Amino acid sequence: MKRDHYRMVINGERVDSDETFETFNPAKGEILATVAKASREHAEKAVQAARHAFDHGKWRKYPVGKRARVLNQIAAIMRERFQELVEIEVLNSGKAISAAQAQINQAIEDFEFYAGAIVGHRGTVNNVPNGFLNYTQKEPVGVCAQIIPWNYPLMMAAWKVAPALAAGCSVVVKPASLTPITAILLNEICHEAGVPEGVVNTVAGAGSVVGDYLVGHEDVNKVAFTGSTPIGKDIMEKASHTLKRVTLELGGKSPNLVFADADMEAAVAGSLFGIYFNTGQSCEARSRLFVHEEIYDEFIEEFITRAKKLQLGDPFDKGTHVGSIISRDQLEIIDSYVRSAEEEGATIALGGKERRVEGFENGHWYEPTVITNVTPDMKAVQEEIFGPVVVVETFQDEREVIKRANDTKFGLGSAIWTKDQGRATRVAHQLEAGIVMVNCPFSAFPGTPFGGYKESGFGRELCVETLDLYMEDKSILSYYGPKPINPFGV
Ligand code: NAP
Ligand code: MG
Repeated sequence: MKRDHYRMVINGERVDSDETFETFNPAKGEILATVAKASREHAEKAVQAARHAFDHGKWRKYPVGKRARVLNQIAAIMRERFQELVEIEVLNSGKAISAAQAQINQAIEDFEFYAGAIVGHRGTVNNVPNGFLNYTQKEPVGVCAQIIPWNYPLMMAAWKVAPALAAGCSVVVKPASLTPITAILLNEICHEAGVPEGVVNTVAGAGSVVGDYLVGHEDVNKVAFTGSTPIGKDIMEKASHTLKRVTLELGGKSPNLVFADADMEAAVAGSLFGIYFNTGQSCEARSRLFVHEEIYDEFIEEFITRAKKLQLGDPFDKGTHVGSIISRDQLEIIDSYVRSAEEEGATIALGGKERRVEGFENGHWYEPTVITNVTPDMKAVQEEIFGPVVVVETFQDEREVIKRANDTKFGLGSAIWTKDQGRATRVAHQLEAGIVMVNCPFSAFPGTPFGGYKESGFGRELCVETLDLYMEDKSILSYYGPKPINPFGV
């Protein structure tokens, strides 16, 4: 099961390094394993392996049906090793086991989804005058650097690796330093399933070293990144030097709108899940709650009553709702946002402090937190906190709340709770967000495009269209007429 040491994967080999780093179990604050630390030289080797596999290897030349079979085989092995993957994900991330199970199930479904999608994905025969046969075929974009965050270590790797493999690309995966293990296991599973050597490589090392090197590399054709908005901007700028294709899935500050006619039961339950699932460490966490003034008191009382019932503790306990925070640094960032809101005059209506959890005293735990009496200019209202903290505001009417919901630089998720279908549709069409959840707590299904407006990034993942972001369109213009064409007439 869990090993004491993990190596990187380059060209089908498990590779060690002179340097190692420790990876932790954040729920306990204990060292979990050591990991071979990639340097620029390792990143270079990984790029060369991916380049060679792409330029001279067979993966991209396989009939799509054969690539699809391998993707399905990856899914099948992940299913066989489900318990192990869940256990390691929980140990390395501190998330509640129910969350890890859902996410790893989805990672498996992503491979199955793209196995199906690639078979039906095709180019076009273009409409042209008689004598010409013009068609556009889709070709894999090349070598892709895929940079993964720590909040969904395996699922985010699946969102990137599955469409890239389906398209025929080769990849170099750079997992987050805090959670490198399951991405390394995924790479091993890809080989076991029949992905040829060099097509998938995984180098765990510092983002500022390894990630940066991949983004600047001339032999890398595309970079797909999920993480913070500042690093996303930095990547886009660096990628411009070689005009790499770029997909960015960045931060959020997603509004959650509860109208006076909402089904109270569904709205409270869905809003709780919207902020506290995955311990609030989610890019589309619905972290700005807007409640209509007519139902505000009743809603908040019920929301807080239920938030108090959320169980924090042993992530392996099936009854646990909220896991640990990923690291001490992240906990301090979360707390500093709460303190800043307090200093600016907001009310901490629930939580707002670290929680000591019996048996997990050295872990990083934060109380589910509710902040009320906020104003739009507060730091905690504008910036992404990335923890179990919701800020609550009231509103009076539809137009006003749309304007305020859109008053953010981000545009990833959003949610609407109302029984009025007309209102739901009107509001959904005006929200500046890539995802709108209507009376629905869930935000991601394979097949449904996922991604952001504004500074939440661009490019959609998890959908058929993602395949096009891993492909180039090549138009082939051919003439079959009997007479030669002489455009100059000379
Ligand atoms: P981050 O710094 O953006 O890191 C995300 C990934 O990018 C990691 O693999 C990281 O490697 C790598 N990276 C860091 N600097 C890089 C660089 N200069 N060039 C290329 N790659 C680089 O995010 P974080 O530090 O883990 O978290 C900070 C904040 O980001 C969070 O508080 C949250 O607001 C946001 N965040 C958002 C998401 C999301 O899903 N949208 C996910 C995670 C974090 P290392 O791990 O080695 O640094
Ligand atoms: Mg960082």
